[in-house]
Amino acid sequence: MYEDILVPTDGSAGASAALEEAIELAAQFDATVHSLYVVDVASVGAEAGTVDLVESFEQMGENATETAATRVRDADVEATGSVATGSPHRAILDYVDDQGIDLIVMGTHGRTGLERYLLGSVTEKVVRTADVPVLTVRSDDGDESEGAD
Ligand code: ATP
Ligand code: MN
Repeated sequence: MYEDILVPTDGSAGASAALEEAIELAAQFDATVHSLYVVDVASVGAEAGTVDLVESFEQMGENATETAATRVRDADVEATGSVATGSPHRAILDYVDDQGIDLIVMGTHGRTGLERYLLGSVTEKVVRTADVPVLTVRSDDGDESEGAD
């Protein structure tokens, strides 16, 4: 049913919760798990030293996608990892088209989202505009407020 599952990763707890879910699904369907990190050039800005900054984000992306791919292969599932540049939701949707992705699995939140938001902005845009199903996964780290009452 699913052959190519995309897990966009920003290196956050939400993205690794999504990865675990994607691994379980991929194992059932004998699918490949693609992990993709997008260097958000708009957030890097256009000041002096930008090239160095982009490079360090690229390096972070390499690390995040390699770690993800290793985790996937440890579960005996096929994996690929890539780094793209641009606006995250656009790069994610382009990757979906280019690689024939049939399911996206991603965190409800990432690195910077506030708890009051239902979904992070990247996830919200992908959910609203993707042509393929999107499975969103909440990480345990976001549950702190629920324990209060
Ligand atoms: P916001 O960015 O809106 O302040 P947030 O960081 O909590 O809030 P998102 O950025 O939407 O929320 O992150 C949710 C999910 O989107 C992450 O778990 C990850 O799967 C994916 N994601 C976010 N940023 C990127 C990125 N740069 N590259 C790849 N995937 C990303
Ligand atoms: Mn984010």
